[in-house]
Amino acid sequence: MDSNIPMPDERGYFGEYGGQIIPPDLVVIMDEIKDAYLEISQTKVFQDELNDLYANYVGRPSPIYYAKRLSEKLGGAKIYLKREDLNHTGAHKINHCLGEALLAKHMGKTKVLAETGAGQHGVALATACALVGLDCEIHMGAVDIAKEHPNVTKMKILGCTLVEVTRGTQTLKDAVDSAFEEYLKDPVNFIYAIGSVVGPHPFPMMVRDFQSIVGKESREQLLEQQGKLPDVITACVGGGSNAIGMFTGFLNDDAVKLVGVEPAGRGLDTDDHAATMSKGVKGSLHGFECYNLQDENGEALPVYSIASGLDYPGVGPQHCLLKDLGRVDYVAVDDDECVDAFMTLSRVEGIIPALESAHAVAYAMKIAGDMSPEQSILVNLSGRGDKDVDFIADKLGL
Ligand SMILES: *Cc1c(COP(=O)(O)O)cnc(C)c1O
Repeated sequence: MDSNIPMPDERGYFGEYGGQIIPPDLVVIMDEIKDAYLEISQTKVFQDELNDLYANYVGRPSPIYYAKRLSEKLGGAKIYLKREDLNHTGAHKINHCLGEALLAKHMGKTKVLAETGAGQHGVALATACALVGLDCEIHMGAVDIAKEHPNVTKMKILGCTLVEVTRGTQTLKDAVDSAFEEYLKDPVNFIYAIGSVVGPHPFPMMVRDFQSIVGKESREQLLEQQGKLPDVITACVGGGSNAIGMFTGFLNDDAVKLVGVEPAGRGLDTDDHAATMSKGVKGSLHGFECYNLQDENGEALPVYSIASGLDYPGVGPQHCLLKDLGRVDYVAVDDDECVDAFMTLSRVEGIIPALESAHAVAYAMKIAGDMSPEQSILVNLSGRGDKDVDFIADKLGL
């Protein structure tokens, strides 16, 4: 873990974002996790164990691939892909789930709890818990359970307890409430594993640190392979974990332009998007301060994206600060552009991306033609599209 990263401050703030917007007794619990994390993550035992799993279980380092045919088709900058889709379980989420599960084990916790929406975080966490031998309990809305068949089955096979949430809208928001209630029954022995760089301090910091392997590797690989850094680096932004993991490796390289891509859904001028940075306001959500999509009463608005991993009404606090500082640009890509990129990458390169990742691919496709072949773009391909193929086939009538 990089000790040069100055953020967040003592109270978990990135500028005016982040913090712990939670009751005082919960602050005590979160601070215990923070202290344990800061101590345990610095030990050689923990680092050796995590690095060994990254290498021999996940398959790190993930390759950087030059997408030659795609680049030539667009006739401009060279496009490179960081292949997080090749990780065990098929996405970047395993990077922080392994970190969280190992931390839970070192802290002597008996049960790991989480919510899941589409099931991606649930599967990655259930995998990590099976591996380290910890009980895992995942709360999921009944509506989502009915929709996400393969992920539900995987979680059951992996041995986690799947709790069907039937209250409210029976989706992600209710699953969060339900899982959190269970957690509060015994926070000494249980731990709540958040699935992105969101929630109260220390989670935005901790999840970022675990994901920063992506940017660190990319920087070394590019310098070794190309002898230079790319002109633009782009990644999709839901909560923001794959993007911040990548960007962390390049924040001090001023010549490298960093671009986060949010989902514009059916359009920024409709209610059906999840473009938190483009359309959100400052406020608090799920225990931290961030830009978020809320109504006049401060209630989170329903959000939408074709990529269910991106439909979160808030965004990680460090991203909010990076936006205000102007260090990272945030743009939005809509469903149609996403599907076009999904199909193009599949047919030109033989790589089926996750719909989430296809947002970043779409942005690269938009700008590549206006750049020169001496320039390059690195896309963080956060996950593979196996989970999305039936949906796309239905949508396109394949
Ligand atoms: C969950 C997910 C995302 C969105 O989460 P972030 O925290 O924004 O990275 C992006 N891509 C894939 C493949 C995912 O599974």
